[in-house]
Amino acid sequence: MIPTDIVTRARDRSIVDVALALGAAEGVKIDERGVACPGCGGTDRFSIDKAKNVFLCRHSGAGGDPIALVQHVHGLSFGDAIEMLTGEKALPAAARQPAPSDDDKNIWREKARLRAWKIWRNGAPIEPERGGHWVRDYFSLRAIPFPAWRIKALREVSSLAYWHRAKAGDDFRVIHSGPAMLAAITGPDGHFIGVHRTWLDFSRPNGKAAIADPAGDGILDAKKVEGSQKGGKIVLRDGADCHRLALGEGNETVLSWDSIRGAPDMALWVGVNIGNIAGKAAEQIPHPSLMLTDRIGRQRRQKVGGHEPDLTDTDCLQIPADDFEKLILLGDSDSDRFTTQAAMLRARNRFELTGHDAEIDWAPDGQDFNDVLKSLASRAASPPAAAGAPAGRAIGRDARSGLRPAAGEAA
Ligand SMILES: [Zn+2]
Repeated sequence: MIPTDIVTRARDRSIVDVALALGAAEGVKIDERGVACPGCGGTDRFSIDKAKNVFLCRHSGAGGDPIALVQHVHGLSFGDAIEMLTGEKALPAAARQPAPSDDDKNIWREKARLRAWKIWRNGAPIEPERGGHWVRDYFSLRAIPFPAWRIKALREVSSLAYWHRAKAGDDFRVIHSGPAMLAAITGPDGHFIGVHRTWLDFSRPNGKAAIADPAGDGILDAKKVEGSQKGGKIVLRDGADCHRLALGEGNETVLSWDSIRGAPDMALWVGVNIGNIAGKAAEQIPHPSLMLTDRIGRQRRQKVGGHEPDLTDTDCLQIPADDFEKLILLGDSDSDRFTTQAAMLRARNRFELTGHDAEIDWAPDGQDFNDVLKSLASRAASPPAAAGAPAGRAIGRDARSGLRPAAGEAA
């Protein structure tokens, strides 16, 4: 029989300290954030609850106090686990390697890629003459002229499940189903690596579904990627022999920009997210106004990635210098301007350092290129200029001159 005070002493040890001593990643300090289990590995199956001083290993179902944790990791009896927790010696880390092996990661990645491929394979053509209508109607709502060329990287589906989990440890479940636009993400070698999905709802002004977060009052992102996006791109037009490439963050931005001032032979790529386009920063810079509150309640300036790229980052989008002489990077200004600007300058610097001639084309302050296109379309549609076709390439120089970087812009 083990004396109660000894059991209590073992049980009262901090679950954080014990988990860290046993080899859990630092990320475990954030409640409910999944990390690899120090006992049985994986990627995000292990989490703790500091207030209750307990852990949960989702994979094995093991959970409980620090004693149970030592038992799970070292396969010890209750008594031996207590001895280890209350003994003089430091807790030994797990005998097994808790971090997922490269093999595990590759298997996990390949599974995600196959799920993505299945979604993509189930997509239907977007062209009206081949039965497509969802993407056509979506583009029409966004004032984007339906592309005159065939976009092989876009498909559509009448009903696609939106899987979501409230927090690490919960099961994924379907919280929405509806029509969606699919975009194929390809890696550096041109192979399929993931699928980008945009859930649609034509009763919404922007055509994107408003999917409520079941855990709170927020709205979830109507765009999600299955599979990988790292280093990937969506090729909206391959541009054959043009040697000029326009690169933006989203399908709508790139197609809107093309409609406003693209050239028919120019390549059009979507970089999926700005981090993928800009790559990692060599240093962080303080944001002029954004503040955050740290764990002990102090107000601090938020830091964002600076202008200089970290060229050792090879996970971001790479563009072979031989393929394109000229890059035009599309800068949308509808999100936080300072952060976006820093990322776009970093992207430009990165591409210039890797042998490109790159420039940034900024949408006017507070707008993205789709906003610009929509206002041009509505102007063209209203009398007395009602005779002209909306948008398209018939836009005059005056409209174009409105598209300039903001004052003080270094671009
Ligand atoms: Zn485990």
